[in-house]
Formats: sequence, C-alpha cells, structure tokens
Amino acid sequence: MRIVLLGAPGAGKGTHCKRIADRYGVLHLSSGDILRRERAAGTELGRKAQGYMDAGALVPDELVVEMMSRAMKDASAGVVLDGFPRTVNQAEVLDKALAAKGGGIDVVMNLVVDDGVVVARITGRRSCPKCGAVYHVKNMPPKVAGVCDKDGAALVQRPDDTEEVVRNRLETYYRQTEPVVDYYKSKRTVDDIDASGDADVVAKVIFEKLDRLAGKKK
Ligand code: ADP
Repeated sequence: MRIVLLGAPGAGKGTHCKRIADRYGVLHLSSGDILRRERAAGTELGRKAQGYMDAGALVPDELVVEMMSRAMKDASAGVVLDGFPRTVNQAEVLDKALAAKGGGIDVVMNLVVDDGVVVARITGRRSCPKCGAVYHVKNMPPKVAGVCDKDGAALVQRPDDTEEVVRNRLETYYRQTEPVVDYYKSKRTVDDIDASGDADVVAKVIFEKLDRLAGKKK
C-alpha cells in the first residue's frame, strides 16, 4: 500500500503517519525527518538544506527528489509519505517514477485544519531527538514534562517551530504545496479529512478508510 498524507505544517502528518506505519506495517518516510538527520550528521545535503529549513522555505526539488527516491528503495512492504511531495513538480516526478515500475499511489489523504490551530499546535510541539516521538505541551503531554515516554531522552523544540518561522512555513505551504492537493484532485480521489480535532478522533477516521483499502488489497 502506498499512501500520501498531505496537509499544512502542524496538520498532524507526522503523528498520523507514525500510527499508520505501526498499524499497517508500511515504512514511514518523512522528508523533514530525513533532512533533519542529514543535518545532524553534517552531510553535504544537510548543509545545503539548512538555510532553507531555518527560514521556513522549501529545499530545492532536485535535492529532495533524489533523497526520497533513495529512501523509497526500502519500501517494498508499502510506504506512507509524510511531507513529500510538497511541490507539483515533486508530485509529477513521483508519479512518473512509480508508473515506470508499473505502480502508483493507492491513496491520498489531505488533513484539513485552520491556521490558528496550526500555530498553537506547532509552537507547543516538542519532539524526541532520539526516537522521533512527537508531543505537545498541552494536547499530548509526555508523562513527565520534557522527557520522552519511550526512551527517557530530553525533548527538544525544533528551531523552525517559532511563531515567526511558522508563519513563513504556512505562507510557503499555501504558495507551493496547496497546489499539490489540486494536482492530485485533478487526477484521482483525494480524501479530505477534518484534522482539527483530537488526534485519536482523526486517527479513527483515517483507519476506517485504510482498513477498507488494506482489506481489499490483501
Ligand atoms: P512541517 O510539515 O511541519 O513544516 P517538516 O518536518 O515536514 O515540517 O519539514 C521541515 C522543513 O524541511 C520544511 O520547512 C522544508 O524546508 C524542508 N522540507 C521537508 N520536506 C520537503 C520537501 N518535500 N520539499 C522541500 N523541502 C522540504
């Protein structure tokens, strides 16, 4: 099963992609997480991506496309894509690459949420640098404040999660990524999902749709 989850920053892509990966045994590929790992490792790609990410702009397509094509080689059991494709060009390249292998995307879901909700979610977001688990100081707090439930590591705030950068990321989203939703809608069904509610409620809606599809494909 190949799944694309679309949505503005803070819509909950990361949270729901993790749950989808656990439930259906597919690989969770987050372009943002991969880029952050490249930065932490000090690779050439990481160094090139750094300035764009910190400003809330997109990393150039050619860098991201190559990185994601490499990552998708390990996705024989299926994949849920998080943060990719993020431009119409990326979506076209992905479609062509999959079509060349006789495949395609099975499901596209679009998490819909208001800007105000996004800003509150992102500025309260904390994540584990070790395992990638994501928390929110109010909505999804860890058992002990500032500490990961899974491995006890100290939680951190992403440098691009400040209010000013979040505003830039939202602007970037409307300019460059919302057209990806229209691109897919012109070609296939896209499930719009109201993602403003509690994560468990949203997950239930997502799972109902995917259960049906997974049942069909088994
Ligand atoms: P969010 O979806 O919450 O904005 P991500 O972790 O997905 O955050 O991405 C963080 C940053 O990484 C983006 O602001 C952008 O600079 C870069 N990035 C991630 N995915 C892509 C992509 N597909 N194309 C270009 N840049 C990307």
